[in-house]
Amino acid sequence: MAEVNCFWHAPVWRRLEAYLSQDRLPHALLLQGPAGIGKRRLALTLARRILCEDGRACGRCPACRLLAGGNHPDLLTLAPEPGRPLTVDRIRELIETLTLTPQYGRGRVVVLEAADRMNPAAANAFLKTLEEPAPDTVILLLCEQVSRLPATIVSRCQRLPLIPPPRQEAEKWLVAQGFPAPQAGLALALNGGAPLAAKAWLEGDEPERRRRFLETLEALLSGRRDPVVLAGEWQTEVPERLSVWLLTVVADLVRLGHGAGQGLVNVDCRERLQDWAEKLDLNQVFGVWERLLSWRRELQSPLNQTLVLESLFLEIHRLRP
Ligand SMILES: [Zn+2]
Repeated sequence: MAEVNCFWHAPVWRRLEAYLSQDRLPHALLLQGPAGIGKRRLALTLARRILCEDGRACGRCPACRLLAGGNHPDLLTLAPEPGRPLTVDRIRELIETLTLTPQYGRGRVVVLEAADRMNPAAANAFLKTLEEPAPDTVILLLCEQVSRLPATIVSRCQRLPLIPPPRQEAEKWLVAQGFPAPQAGLALALNGGAPLAAKAWLEGDEPERRRRFLETLEALLSGRRDPVVLAGEWQTEVPERLSVWLLTVVADLVRLGHGAGQGLVNVDCRERLQDWAEKLDLNQVFGVWERLLSWRRELQSPLNQTLVLESLFLEIHRLRP
């Protein structure tokens, strides 16, 4: 992948540069921030600086070449399977590897992705490596929600929060990469302002799928289609996506229903949403919103998506004036 200049990393990177130049990089860093803010990218950039033979991520030395090929033995990356917790077995494997001496002379870097998805046993085991750090090892923990990590782990890390840049600057950054401004704005609004998430959104098939989903909602609210049949059509969609689409639409309806157009997410269909908001009973819309929130909380555990969708679609169908 071509190197992308993540300008919003600059403040954190300045701190890291200071640590590196003074040779006092903490042994554990916690990179926290929303999905698509570039935590992994920043961690790997730092790993290149640490492991490069001349410490500058030169791109030419044997270490840099191994890193570019994704097989430097002193860079250990660990990530849970999609939708699964990180288990203690994987952490034990890591701990065992840390007892060995690094193979090259530049120490070792551990990148622990989605650290907030460690299960309690894994977190417990991992805590020991933080309490008794292996020599010449830098541990980079990546997480979206610090509140899901045990305080004992957080307190042993130097925290580096990554914050989305101002919306306008992020939009400019996307436009400079060839995306039209209205779509860039929409992508940012739908992705919490995280530029890389917005970019991936624009490059993938999600805009088209979301457009079709909005048509589904239209069909439900106008009573043109059967909710159970429609639920069947969407049963294989990624639940996370569905819940985001629905939540943002319902939140926009509540906003517009209260006469507040500020902070609207689905800016591309403002008129349609305004029309719905005027016709629907806001109390009932609020009921759907609460059900969506409870569905989202349960997304990590296996659910019968068809059943959940059927009941949600039926409820939306019943919103019809
Ligand atoms: Zn190098």
